[in-house]
Amino acid sequence: MNFSEYRNRKESFPLISFEVFPPKDNAEFEKLKGTLAKLAEFSPAIITVTHGAMGKERKRTLEVASYIKNIIGIESACHLTCIGASEREIDVSLELTEHEKVRNIVALRGDIPRENGKVLLSSGAFQHANQLVEHIRRHKNGSPKRFSIAVAGYPEKHIESPSFEEDIANLKKKVDAGADIIITQLFFDNRYYFDYMRMVRDAGIDLPVIPGLMPVLSSRQVIRISSLCGTEIPAGLRKKLVEVGDDNRKAVEVGIAHCREQVRELLSEGVEGIHFYVLNKAFHIEKILHSV
Ligand code: FAD
Repeated sequence: MNFSEYRNRKESFPLISFEVFPPKDNAEFEKLKGTLAKLAEFSPAIITVTHGAMGKERKRTLEVASYIKNIIGIESACHLTCIGASEREIDVSLELTEHEKVRNIVALRGDIPRENGKVLLSSGAFQHANQLVEHIRRHKNGSPKRFSIAVAGYPEKHIESPSFEEDIANLKKKVDAGADIIITQLFFDNRYYFDYMRMVRDAGIDLPVIPGLMPVLSSRQVIRISSLCGTEIPAGLRKKLVEVGDDNRKAVEVGIAHCREQVRELLSEGVEGIHFYVLNKAFHIEKILHSV
């Protein structure tokens, strides 16, 4: 199901989607194929494939998205970041993506690359994701629905944003530019999502806002990712992760139990879908989805 069908569907049952990242080499791709086969058993509406800002891994992203769509037969999406990219580079990506019959794009600015706190590059044709969405909609004018488009939303506000008001006003620009759905940054406390939904709806945004969840795989990793994207680890979860320390097997169990509770509550509140950041693993997702 592509992002625009997701938006327009009549059924009310929640949809599942997954996000994977492109493998570094062929051996990793073979492993990822095994993971994708397991994830496919949950009949996800769509599987999205990330790519590094500045165009890194773009070829691999498309290779994986094409595999999901054309070999496994599940709808897929390529993430596309615009930071540092020329208009020509973006257009080539769009054309290659279309050529592989992948019709969904997660349109993003990308993180600003920095070294020792210094911004490495701020040039490029587009400064913000709303401009990328506008461009995708304009590209090859006359076929505005070549791609369905998802954009990013931030229940704890984007790390660079001074306020929720500003961040949601900027989200509205992406929606007005032609996005079909919003997928959120990962969060560990559902209250942020519920509060965010109120603010988003108050701002007149009526698109599906799909909550993004990431089951913990290790204590260190979750602390690193959370600080990078400004996500709070609730005190209860943090305490359990500190207790298990570097025992990743136990951290995974803590993560599965926490994520399962998040899923249960979100489903009971009638969310339209859940997007899992699976980190190219399936076993934790299997445990969560078999027991909610
Ligand atoms: P924007 O929407 O441009 O927002 C960035 C900041 O600028 C925000 O603070 C916003 O409030 C502000 N802003 C937005 N528009 C304007 C405007 N017109 N004028 C002034 N200010 C504005 N990163 C990757 O590198 N690769 C990926 O594959 C990837 N996938 C992701 C998937 C999801 C679902 C999410 C939530 C994030 C993903 N990211 C990915 C991370 C993302 O690139 C970063 O969070 C990035 O810092 C912001 O991207 P954005 O598209 O939200 O940017």
